[in-house]
Amino acid sequence: MITYSFSFKRYFLFLFMLLFTFSGAQKKFTIVLDAGHGGSDHGANRYYSEYGTLREKDITLSVVLKLGRMLEKDKDFKVIYTRKIDEYPSLTDRTTLANRSKADLFVSVHVNANTKTTPYGTETFVQGPDQNKTNLEVAKAENDVIYLDEKDREMFASYDPKSPESLIALKIQQSKYLESSLLFGSFVEGNFEKKDKRYSRGVKQQNLHVLRLNAMPSVLIETGFISNYDDAMYLASDNGQSEIATSIYDAIISYKKAIERNTATVVKAEPEKPEEKPLKNDFRILLMSTPTKYAGSDPALKGLNYILPIKENGMYKYYYGTTNLASVRDNNLKTAKDAGFRNATSISFVPNQNLGIGYYTLELAVTDQKLSSNSYMLNTLKDVNRVKENGKFYYTYGKFTSLEEALKARKNLEDKGVKDAVVEKKLK
Ligand SMILES: [Zn+2]
Repeated sequence: MITYSFSFKRYFLFLFMLLFTFSGAQKKFTIVLDAGHGGSDHGANRYYSEYGTLREKDITLSVVLKLGRMLEKDKDFKVIYTRKIDEYPSLTDRTTLANRSKADLFVSVHVNANTKTTPYGTETFVQGPDQNKTNLEVAKAENDVIYLDEKDREMFASYDPKSPESLIALKIQQSKYLESSLLFGSFVEGNFEKKDKRYSRGVKQQNLHVLRLNAMPSVLIETGFISNYDDAMYLASDNGQSEIATSIYDAIISYKKAIERNTATVVKAEPEKPEEKPLKNDFRILLMSTPTKYAGSDPALKGLNYILPIKENGMYKYYYGTTNLASVRDNNLKTAKDAGFRNATSISFVPNQNLGIGYYTLELAVTDQKLSSNSYMLNTLKDVNRVKENGKFYYTYGKFTSLEEALKARKNLEDKGVKDAVVEKKLK
C-alpha cells in the first residue's frame, strides 16, 4: 500500500515536471519571410505614368515588411527576414538562413509578369517536379536569378532537374512537406479570392530553386501581374499591399491552428499519399478548330503558351499542354477555360502511335507569293517541299510516322530559328 502511494506521488511529480518542461520549452512558431529579388536583381518591372517604373523588388519588400509587423505583434511568432532593405541575398543564403533557424514556414513573396498585358491574378507555388509545362515561365523567371551569385552557381551547378537522382531526392523532400505547403497555399489563395476579391489562378507545383532545398513547408506567392494595368495599380498602392499582407497573415494564423490541431490529435504519422500513377495516354486540351492559321503571339490564342497546332483536312486544331497525369490534365483544362476557351475539351493521344496510312509533315509557311530562294527558311533547310493549291503556296518539311517524331523535328527547326511550324497530319 505504502509503496503504491509513494510511486503514485512520484508519478504525479514526474508528470508535473514533464508538463512544466514541455510548456517552458514550447517553441515559437518561426516564419521566414522572403521578399523576392532585391539589390541588383530588380525582378520584373514595368513603367506606368501613375507611378513611374514599378519594380518587383520594391513591392515584395513592402508587402513583407507589412506582414512582418503584423506577425511581430503576436508573441507566438518569431519572424526572420531574408532581407529588410534593398539588398540581394543569394538564394542559397535565403535557404541556409531558413534551415539554420529551423523555421516552421517559409514564405517567399513575388510579383508575376507576362509578355502580354492580359494575364492577371494571383498564384501560389509549392515545390514539386516539373509536371506541368504551363508553369515553366514562372520557374524560368524566378530561377534565372540564381546566376547572379557565385555561391548559387556552385550550389546549383550539380543539380540537373532531369536526372533520376535529383527527381528521387526531390520527391522524398517534396512528399515530406508537400501536404503542409499545399494546405498553407490553399489558405493564401482562398483569402485572396474571398477576402480581397482577387482572381486566383490556384495553387501549383513547380520546381523552384528558392523552395527546393528548404527543410520546411514553403511557398512562393505570386501576388499579381505587374504587366497587367489593374494588377499593377493594386500592387503599387498602399491599400493593395496591406490587403495582400493581411491575407497572407490570416492564412498563417489558419495554418498554425490547423497544424496544432493536427499534432494534438493525430499521434501516429499519416500514411503517405500514393503517388499519382501516369495514365496510358497523353492528353492535350483542344482549344479550337478553325481554317485560320494563327502565329503563337496572336490574340486569338488568348495569351496561352505551349500551344501545338495540328492541321488535318485543311483545319487547324490548336492544342494546349501535354500530360499523362489526370490532375495536370484537369488543371490544364481549367486554365484553358479560364483563358476564355469555353468549349475546350481534353483529347487523348496514344503515345508513339505510328500512322498506318499517311504520315505527319511540318507546314512551315503558307504564302500568296513564292518565297525567294534566299529567304531564311529556304536557306536554312534543305528539302523543303512546295505545293501550289488554290492560288497559295504551301511549304512543308519532312515525313514522319508518329506525332512524337514530328514534334522532335519541330523542336529542331525551332532551335534553328524556324518557328511556328504546324504539324500536319496527311491521311492519304
Ligand atoms: Zn520574382
